[in-house]
Amino acid sequence: MNDFYEIFLSAHCIPAISIFSYNANAQSYKRIHKKAILVDTHNDLLSECFEKHVSFDEDLTGITQSDLNRFAKGGVDAQVFSVWCDGKKENPYNYAKTQIDTLYATAQRHPDKITIVTNSKELKKAVKQKKLAAMIGVEGGHMIENDINKLDTLYSRGVRYMTLTWNNSTPWATSAMEETHDSLLHQPKGLSNFGKQIVREMNRIGMMVDLSHVGEKTFWDAIETTNKPVLVSHSCAYTLCPVYRNLKDDQIKAVGKNGGVIDINFYSAFLDSNYAKRESAFMAKHKKERDSLLATNIDKDLVASTIYKKYKEEFYAISPPLSIIIDHIDYIVKLIGIDHVGIGSDFDGVSDATPQQLADVTGYPLITKALIERGYSKKDVYKILGGNFIRTFKANENTGKRPGY
Ligand SMILES: [Zn+2]
Repeated sequence: MNDFYEIFLSAHCIPAISIFSYNANAQSYKRIHKKAILVDTHNDLLSECFEKHVSFDEDLTGITQSDLNRFAKGGVDAQVFSVWCDGKKENPYNYAKTQIDTLYATAQRHPDKITIVTNSKELKKAVKQKKLAAMIGVEGGHMIENDINKLDTLYSRGVRYMTLTWNNSTPWATSAMEETHDSLLHQPKGLSNFGKQIVREMNRIGMMVDLSHVGEKTFWDAIETTNKPVLVSHSCAYTLCPVYRNLKDDQIKAVGKNGGVIDINFYSAFLDSNYAKRESAFMAKHKKERDSLLATNIDKDLVASTIYKKYKEEFYAISPPLSIIIDHIDYIVKLIGIDHVGIGSDFDGVSDATPQQLADVTGYPLITKALIERGYSKKDVYKILGGNFIRTFKANENTGKRPGY
């Protein structure tokens, strides 16, 4: 959530050139998209609905980037709903449980359309039944309030991944945001002994260790500690877009070696290193309007989104093309092979700042089209859209009996 505005300008960007380009047969990409199991590992719709006082079983077109019916239109088979609260909220653990309750309540109202799944077998069963397989991921280790026992409660409520940090560090793990701004960090970088204990406990109970948002030192400590494949639920390649929380080449290679998966974030500022400059110029042009909205105490993300919507065409023109997502996928594939990349959109966490043709979840089939145009085979597309994640998910599952269960 709210990766928006955490933009850091960078000096270098490698332009993407498509070598293999041919026109995908319209029918074939739709067929492949339909047949694939599309898993998106990061969507902030739950907290977005909380903030906007809406429910995602309503038609939220024009309000959010996703809702129950639009997931189906976009061909989304499995969605990990991110449970998010910023680092400043009191009682983040209770806030997390309330969001989880909302997801269960929504699923109970529509048993024919959505079901909560907690393992790969249930996921595949839901897909067969043509229901959205809903999963839960906690975004930010601060939500367990430094109590390792809370992992069990979250697990029993269906949580299957937790990012060790959000932008804020915890006392036991430092974040990418704070590691890269030493002035913000008041503790040694990386995982503390307690942090390592948390990683081992997540491995033991079957909760994926998510390394999106963590600082580099935390990343390496976690990679050394984990005995299961890791998930990077919503991040991009640093070489193409050098922002503080994208993955550097050695980190990408480490995830490949570990057997995990890196799921690509659709936030324009994490994909395109020149986007921040264009966006700033766009906002400067509408400064007067922005300032008057900010003066009414509206949240800054909502202000931006309001201006994006009002000057829709102008905003569209500064957004990167959809193909930039394929550039990041391609980059990772060339570095570590086809088995370690997937989709982690961050829809509804990036204030509408997504590439052209991807204003909402109904744009997903165009990603399949672009992958085919780039030369990816049907089998490769299946792996990227969901297969790689499902393999990682399965490898983390706890199949043995646990004490007390
Ligand atoms: Zn995030």
